Amino acid sequence: MMKELAIAATLITAVITSPAIAQGIEVFTNGSRPTGKGPAETFTGTVMVDPLMGARPQTRVGAGHVTFEPGARSAWHTHPAGQILIVTSGTGLVQDWGGEKREIKPGDVVWIPPGVKHWHGATATNAMRHIAVQETVDGRNVDWMEKVTDEQYGAWR
Ligand code: MN
Repeated sequence: MMKELAIAATLITAVITSPAIAQGIEVFTNGSRPTGKGPAETFTGTVMVDPLMGARPQTRVGAGHVTFEPGARSAWHTHPAGQILIVTSGTGLVQDWGGEKREIKPGDVVWIPPGVKHWHGATATNAMRHIAVQETVDGRNVDWMEKVTDEQYGAWR
């Protein structure tokens, strides 16, 4: 009996000290990650990106909160594992290659399948903010292409 108790105690100690269960909940507090600017090579107009969470060893999912000023938009691009957009404020647009522009509003959720060429951004007159969620595959979560021209976007100067 004493031997069994000793073995049980050893097992419990091993489980408690195992690094595999040493991971705890992390809270990324608001303001702890600086706002970045969308680069001019891949965005038109002023776009700001608040990082929410990057991919990490335990998950391929990353997310950011993206703000587009009126007229601002991404370049054409695809995502290797698709993308979810959750609109949080304003009025925006999303369009796939050869498709029609779709107006998006707060509360709308957009699913962009893997490999579908598309862009997203504000309307010409209103800002738009969305949370973007995407997975990283082979170190990439986006493949950038050419800019969305003013003609493609609509009449905006
Ligand atoms: Mn996208």
